[in-house]
Amino acid sequence: MRRALTGIKPSGTIHLGNWLGALGPAVALQQEFETFYFVADLHALTSMTDRDRLVALSREVAASFLALGLDPERSVLFRQSAVPEVCELAWILGCAMPAGQMERMHAVKAAKEGGLEVNVGTWYYPVLMSADILLYDSAVVPVGQDQRQHVELARDLAEKLNHRYGEGSLVVPEVLVRETVGTVPGLDGRKMSKSYGNQIDLWQPAARLKKQVMRIVTDSKGVDEPKDPDTCPVFLLYRAVASPAEVAALARRYTAGGMGYGEAKLALFEVLERQLETPRQRFEEWMAHPARLDEVLADGARRARIAAQTTIERVRARAGLR
Ligand code: AMP
Repeated sequence: MRRALTGIKPSGTIHLGNWLGALGPAVALQQEFETFYFVADLHALTSMTDRDRLVALSREVAASFLALGLDPERSVLFRQSAVPEVCELAWILGCAMPAGQMERMHAVKAAKEGGLEVNVGTWYYPVLMSADILLYDSAVVPVGQDQRQHVELARDLAEKLNHRYGEGSLVVPEVLVRETVGTVPGLDGRKMSKSYGNQIDLWQPAARLKKQVMRIVTDSKGVDEPKDPDTCPVFLLYRAVASPAEVAALARRYTAGGMGYGEAKLALFEVLERQLETPRQRFEEWMAHPARLDEVLADGARRARIAAQTTIERVRARAGLR
């Protein structure tokens, strides 16, 4: 079975965009691959300075994976920082990366655009991500379109090291661009993102979820008027979570007129609730038992380290680090 790897950065409260665009599709990979999942806490350090928040958000990411169906017997779930070999491999890879290329990486551009401090960690981010991928001999890396460049870098670096130190030093991974639901819109219709403050939190009680859904911004068309489903954030969210038959039925109601946005929002809330009720209970259960969660993470780290040490020993020997 081929190995697939996915990491999620614990940098904010999980929202519907993270669920539909990343966590959900990642958990589905268990059917087809030997799966490794990690909480990218070292990556979060480029912008996170609050220790308690990092600990809390890291637990939240791990509990989210588990709540959404990650089976810790079958898959390996761990904190990135629990496998320090990743930093060593990042250093070795960094020594094969031309500095000029760093500036052009998406992570650096995104940090600059977001007005964030661009520290050396931000710069090194793509190299650390390559190390994540290559340390575990990942055959496949499923990513959204926005991360494609980073996996291509991992491929380049693996090929470079294989050239430098001999074939078979590192496994050259394959990029699997995820079939996505597209960009999940937020409350104001722009991309759902914590930096826009337009997110709908994934793990909140039903009553609060309903309140947030009712706050989605729509145009001012009256009940009787026909409406355009394809430009309405309520519909676009509905399309990402409801069954094809439900989606077709709601689209007809939009174009026919006679339905207000309030009714569409309620329909959206009901489908969300249907899908989230059970995972939410599981999430709360994991969050209420941090020791149990840490145990799962410790077991995952132990298994991840076995794979990591095999790779790092091989690379060390070939690089002359003995
Ligand atoms: P972030 O922490 O914002 O980088 O999000 C982590 C991952 O969640 C991204 O790489 C995407 O795969 C996914 N994601 C975040 N926001 C959205 C969105 N609005 N629509 C679809 N996917 C998203």
